[in-house]
Amino acid sequence: MRPSILTPLFASVSALPGVGPQNVKRLTHLLGGQEPVGARVVDVLLHLPTGVLDRRLRPKLIDAPFDVLVMVEVTVERHRPGGGRSSPYQVFCYDETGDLTLAFFAGNTEWLLHSLPVGEKRWVSGKIELFDGMRQMVHPDRIVDEAGLRTLPMVEPVYPLTEGLGPKTMQRAAQGAVQRLPALPEWLDPAWLARQAWPSFRDALAAQHAPGEPQALALDAPSRQRLAYDELLASQLALAMVRARMKTISGRRNAGTGAVAARIVAALPFSLTGSQGRALAEIRADMAEDKRMIRLLQGDVGSGKTVVALLAAATAVESGRQAALMAPTEILARQHLATIAPLAEAAGLRIALLTGRDRTKERTRVLEALASGAVDLLIGTHALFQEDVAFKDLGLAIVDEQHRFGVHQRLALARKGEAVDVLVMTATPIPRTLVLTWFGDMDASALTEKPAGRQPVDTRLISLERLDEVVEGLRRLLASGARAYWVCPLVAESEHLDIAAAEERFAHLAGLFGHEVGLLHGQMKGTDKDAAMARFVAGETRVLVSTTVIEVGVNVPEATVMVIEHAERFGLAQLHQLRGRIGRGSEKSTCLLLYKGPPGEVARRRLEIMRETEDGFRIAEEDLRLRGEGDVLGTRQSGMPGFRLADLSAHADLLPTARDDARLILARDPELDTERGAALRVLLYLFERDEAVRLLRAG
Ligand code: ADP
Ligand code: MG
Repeated sequence: MRPSILTPLFASVSALPGVGPQNVKRLTHLLGGQEPVGARVVDVLLHLPTGVLDRRLRPKLIDAPFDVLVMVEVTVERHRPGGGRSSPYQVFCYDETGDLTLAFFAGNTEWLLHSLPVGEKRWVSGKIELFDGMRQMVHPDRIVDEAGLRTLPMVEPVYPLTEGLGPKTMQRAAQGAVQRLPALPEWLDPAWLARQAWPSFRDALAAQHAPGEPQALALDAPSRQRLAYDELLASQLALAMVRARMKTISGRRNAGTGAVAARIVAALPFSLTGSQGRALAEIRADMAEDKRMIRLLQGDVGSGKTVVALLAAATAVESGRQAALMAPTEILARQHLATIAPLAEAAGLRIALLTGRDRTKERTRVLEALASGAVDLLIGTHALFQEDVAFKDLGLAIVDEQHRFGVHQRLALARKGEAVDVLVMTATPIPRTLVLTWFGDMDASALTEKPAGRQPVDTRLISLERLDEVVEGLRRLLASGARAYWVCPLVAESEHLDIAAAEERFAHLAGLFGHEVGLLHGQMKGTDKDAAMARFVAGETRVLVSTTVIEVGVNVPEATVMVIEHAERFGLAQLHQLRGRIGRGSEKSTCLLLYKGPPGEVARRRLEIMRETEDGFRIAEEDLRLRGEGDVLGTRQSGMPGFRLADLSAHADLLPTARDDARLILARDPELDTERGAALRVLLYLFERDEAVRLLRAG
């Protein structure tokens, strides 16, 4: 049960001042949140400002610098209503040192006359620029009189926003959220807290939402450090609890005979790479022990994890048990099925597919087969851990592309059987710090070699201005039989816009290449998605225009061209994933990164790294180093699960302390029974790591 002290924080944002149904929707869009509640007060609390509007600069007009925020006191001289788009509504003003024109492109005359009465003094805030030799301020962000000035915050937080959600609404909601925040029991060790000279959790959040100084929002400000540490501690503690729990349930031996695996290996058109062999040996050794396996299999895109997973599944089946393979998307689940089916057939392994989309009849049939033991390996999406899915005897759960799932799902699948061995696969090579963050001290195997016969991908950076040349190049490649992906980026915080961009590019390319061009995006019906993918796999379409839904795992060895539009908007990990879709066959592959120039410093560096290397681990390290440098999109798209308060580019050194803290806590107080333990439970619930709390004294 969530501690009742947190109840007000988990209420809908509609409880906050100024948040009606429309703003609930917008906040939910911005902050996420599950139906029916949508975004909650806690989501607003943890949505920190990224900057400030500093209104303390109040020069006379003659001294006012251009293009920085200033607040000036002026006398209104006269109004000149505008005539449409090109000529704005103008208000001419002055002080004793000079003149200033205020310009409004969509001004409401009545409101303007009321807020800027002729002959009176007003304070206006905004950026001054030079226009036709005159000082001009377009759309002042504040217009107040002397009394209004006294109530105006001089340093105002600036929040990331979304369409339709204005800064004032966000600020009011945040202030309301801070007011609802009760004083919480202190969960940090008092000695450590004193040494760091950090404020309490409540004071820290209050300071972030009402920064008196721009520096208060710096990543190394004490209040921000405290919050980052809290979040890291919550995650480390949850991971440590899960791990402790999994280790205490003794496992079962899944020793296997090697018979099924041998038949699969015999049916493979290739031999295993050295690292596939080593990873398998490690997995089998774990499975053969009577402890539970919790192992991470890391391997770059195309390194051949699926075969390793299948052979691990074979080991479980040889031991008389079942295995499950869970993929993050429908497309991937189907692809795994397609890859595995012929091998399974050859080896006499009975497989089935379960996704959220199956018809009732088919679903019932699969569930019955599963419960009776007539299915050896079940492949599917998160539909696998729905309530009514029951195995006869699940021995091994394999979770592909783990970083898309949470601890919660991992546990849910592992609970489907008795002491289930767990193999987690991730295609994003993860730097050690992040492995620690997301998986705790998990054992790991890595596939470091690419299968033989692969050619390096030729990666080029090209300005979008040269799109015509790119299209001509594509025409030549298609003439020689190539197949190409064409990826359109996330445009904004809106999936609709992404899709519009992809549809527009699709129409453009279809106009040139006819029905050789296919389209794939996230809002298509499931069956249409499958059909679009199938046509591309079969070579009926040879250019596949898509949003980033193809990002993970899709395997079409014949595809040798990858065009990524607005590559500067993608994170490194995601670019790497996308490029990994090509260079999978023996043909030479080309990746064209189209950027809208000139890209910013960080974006340019990212693109260059992509050109320099295909080494996933190196790319991951660079990604970690570059992220957090003011690129919100990059973080969102990087494919790594994000923290809300901690930023690993600045707070990574807090991580080992948080891990040690978590270990020490559990060593002294394994059930979180002490007073500090109770406070730590509050922390876990606050950051929604409460799945871990349920493990205490459970089963
Ligand atoms: P991952 O899931 O790691 O991205 P896959 O398992 O999809 O990679 O494998 C990519 C491709 O490489 C598949 O077509 C697979 O059949 C092939 N493959 C796997 N292992 C080998 C190997 N040892 N030699 C040659 N090809 C392999
Ligand atoms: Mg894969």
